Amino acid sequence: MGRVRHEGTEAELRVRRILHGLGARYRVNVHSLPGSPDIANKTRRKAIFVHGCFWHHHVGCPKAGLPKVNREFWRKKFADNRARDERKEEALRSRGIDTLVVWECELNNEEALSKRLRRFWFD
Ligand SMILES: [Zn+2]
Repeated sequence: MGRVRHEGTEAELRVRRILHGLGARYRVNVHSLPGSPDIANKTRRKAIFVHGCFWHHHVGCPKAGLPKVNREFWRKKFADNRARDERKEEALRSRGIDTLVVWECELNNEEALSKRLRRFWFD
């Protein structure tokens, strides 16, 4: 229902490629975990969400502007999206699963992102 699902696909593919290069083993769109994380490994208890900066309203990000038309609609939409994201992360954490959010704009610096992913996944 108005759920944006495939906005992150290209970003997700790039994040998956980086993880693969690090030797990480994972599944994608893991529906057996709360919130169906984009990338997860249940044995390692790790889950990653790859968020588009616009739809998930990355605070302070230049890609996360509020459209000029229908501002109230967008304000509510973004607030709803963020609240849902937080619920998903909380549901995973309460099961003892580490969660990481990767923002689309982090792909502008793949080296830094790669380090962050390595630290999250293997530590
Ligand atoms: Zn961003």
